[in-house]
Amino acid sequence: MAAISACVLSIVKAGDHIVSTDQLYGGTDKLFRKILSQLGIGFSFVDTSNQTNVLDAIKKNTKLVCIETPANPTMKLADIKEISEIAHDKNIPVAVDNSFMSAFNQRPIELGADICIESLGKYFSGHLDVLGGLVAGSKTYMEKVYNMLKYMGGILSPFDAWIVLRGIKSLPFRMEQHNKNGLAVAEFLEKHPKIKKVYYPGLESHPQYDLAKRQMDGFGAMLSFEVKGGFNEARKLMESVKLCSLAVSFGGDKSLIQHPASMTHVMVPREIRLKIGLTDELVRLSVGIEDTEDIIADLNQALSAL
Ligand SMILES: *Cc1c(COP(=O)(O)O)cnc(C)c1O
Repeated sequence: MAAISACVLSIVKAGDHIVSTDQLYGGTDKLFRKILSQLGIGFSFVDTSNQTNVLDAIKKNTKLVCIETPANPTMKLADIKEISEIAHDKNIPVAVDNSFMSAFNQRPIELGADICIESLGKYFSGHLDVLGGLVAGSKTYMEKVYNMLKYMGGILSPFDAWIVLRGIKSLPFRMEQHNKNGLAVAEFLEKHPKIKKVYYPGLESHPQYDLAKRQMDGFGAMLSFEVKGGFNEARKLMESVKLCSLAVSFGGDKSLIQHPASMTHVMVPREIRLKIGLTDELVRLSVGIEDTEDIIADLNQALSAL
């Protein structure tokens, strides 16, 4: 959050406007809607899976396009290249929160964006034992971000920085396993009779599968799915898993499962939740780097308890 807040505040000031994704990480959503809005910064939150929405939302005072792809937990993608072209046409910089993919799978700056933000507590450090953030971009932007960060605080401690650096050494190996497990679990779930729908960009059934193949080198380990039934079945699944832990966060060695309707999005009114696709039966899974067979066996035994 220090990375995102310093990055955004180093680019916009009161009276400016930001175009962003309508399904952001909860912390970013609150930063934008509750804090920055009160400082006189305007926002348009649009479905960035259609770049025309970005174009339509740009105003005279738009100073930043700030997107997240894939969106959490519906796994809708935004076309980074197309959106960057649209924004650059109007001299507006583009920042991408890349935490859901990590630089191993997706490199926004190579695709045309100006700034890349990563949550280091996820894939980068990889063991769910540290908090940190990263902002990358040209020297001009980074000097501004550095100044903002210096006076706002939010500096990583030396020990945490060391933990992150140690984690990064194994990033490629962990990501290979995350990508392999993510796809295997998505394919297993898609065939399971107790599953209604799986949302994973690496499945051909994903509406933006072609875009996923174009802009990502791997599809990652984040996926969501709907169980047949409703709220109770989803909760029961969560209480029946043994290898997977019932917890938020993601991108770590351990598989984590969570139920947005009763956990991360419990504060969102049900009708709004349903409108953005967060149904009662939706489950989010962060597939870890355990043996593929062990993860599938755990989900299989939990599903048979339904
Ligand atoms: C976790 C996360 C963040 C915030 O990271 P913290 O380390 O908790 O501050 C920001 N964006 C995305 C997409 C995330 O998943």
